[in-house]
Amino acid sequence: MTAATVERLRAGFASGRTRPLEWRRTQLQALARMLRTHEAELAGALARDLGKPAPEAYATEIGFTLGEVRHALANLKRWTRPRRVAIPLALQPASARTTPQPQGVVLILAPWNYPLQLLLVPLCGALAAGNCAVLKPSELAPFTSALLATLLPRYLDTDAVAVVEGGTRTAGELLGQRFDHYFFTGSAGVGRQVMEAAARVPAPATLELGGKCPAIVHDGDLRTIARRIAFAKFTNAGQTCVAPDHVLVLREHAPELARQLRGAILEFFGADPAQSRDYGKIVNERHHRRLADALAEALDGGATVLSGGRHDARRRYFEPTVLVDAPSDSALAREEIFGPVLPLVVVQDLDDALERARQHQPPLAAYVFTRDPAVRARVEAGLRAGAIAVNACAVHLAAPGLPFGGIGASGLGRYHGRHSFEAFSQARPVFRKPLWPDTLRMAYPPYGGWRDRVLRWLLR
Ligand code: NAD
Repeated sequence: MTAATVERLRAGFASGRTRPLEWRRTQLQALARMLRTHEAELAGALARDLGKPAPEAYATEIGFTLGEVRHALANLKRWTRPRRVAIPLALQPASARTTPQPQGVVLILAPWNYPLQLLLVPLCGALAAGNCAVLKPSELAPFTSALLATLLPRYLDTDAVAVVEGGTRTAGELLGQRFDHYFFTGSAGVGRQVMEAAARVPAPATLELGGKCPAIVHDGDLRTIARRIAFAKFTNAGQTCVAPDHVLVLREHAPELARQLRGAILEFFGADPAQSRDYGKIVNERHHRRLADALAEALDGGATVLSGGRHDARRRYFEPTVLVDAPSDSALAREEIFGPVLPLVVVQDLDDALERARQHQPPLAAYVFTRDPAVRARVEAGLRAGAIAVNACAVHLAAPGLPFGGIGASGLGRYHGRHSFEAFSQARPVFRKPLWPDTLRMAYPPYGGWRDRVLRWLLR
């Protein structure tokens, strides 16, 4: 079944249909039309899967993807244009250019937390670059997966785009097929398997993984800082790869920051967030249990809850929770939390904060709140991360001009905007040289004499 699908797309690619700019434009326009026409149904599926409020679903999934598609449509012509490349004297007369080529049939594997955005934003890049794509949405967001599997074939060229639904077994079958690019968003363990599959071909792989994104609070208006942190952390109930995982706060600001975080949670979700229409759900019981166990372990180890802490597995509800003093060997301190639990870690100074942030693998993003350019510069110089944001958390990824991706354990490769187009393209050089004059004869054997000297001069 998966083999037949890949074969169909391979034939589609070989037919050359995906190469013309017009085809790419038509596909992108159809993708935008699908998102606009079915916005309400898509938001409904996202609400069933993750309890996403409709405005949040629009901002982080549907509208976000539309923004990427619009950006690609506006820039497609420029991105696909050949680029001239300068030629050194030793090769003159000659000319050269690179022209972006599609890679072929690509595989896109998406996770459950932003099940629409993380499937369709890579697709946007793949189509803009003229590829065929097999998409596998996450089985843990079944309503979104089923709806996209129904809608996409109605709007897009079915000889170029296919949706394969299923879980680990289906994903394994897909990895048994040959693709020309593997684009994976998800956990590090599965990412390694994807990389191994790509290595067998061999083919390029983009891995969008996770990590523990720190937010360093150094100085500034703590009310605004708390709101920005709470917004990024509690959107989608904390199930966001670039959410601030933990806060490293200078001792003198810790009590006031805790107070302001409580205030921000109250302002956003009311006294009982369980009643709020603006607060999401945990994806399933397994993840709910993981979070409840991690919280219980930290509390047993001496952590103190500053806000929240209630949860209800039956309703997949987990209250926005802020705590302090999680033991350093607890799951909350060691692993990516991926849920609405925010540990505050009190630090002495910036050096202490940087030291603690460096105890973890490089994350997708590191955040610092400060008005001091010297502090900002030290964070930029002192931390490895996929991105750095100053006085903001997570929102940087909504700028399509910025490359998005991890470094080290948080991933490999970049996408969004032009970077998606480039990720799914081969910048193929074409070099042209006239037969006359035959200047290359400077390099021909037999060696020796004046030609050696001229060649050395040309290559100096
Ligand atoms: P996951 O790795 O369990 O699943 C991701 C996808 O891989 C799903 O489609 C799944 O069906 C598939 N899959 C599962 N087992 C597989 C296998 N053996 N072979 C091939 N494919 C397989 O990840 P998840 O739980 O859905 O997502 C959570 C993780 O994703 C977190 O670590 C988070 O940080 C990360 N994440 C990263 C980004 C990013 O942009 N970098 C965005 C969101 C989530």
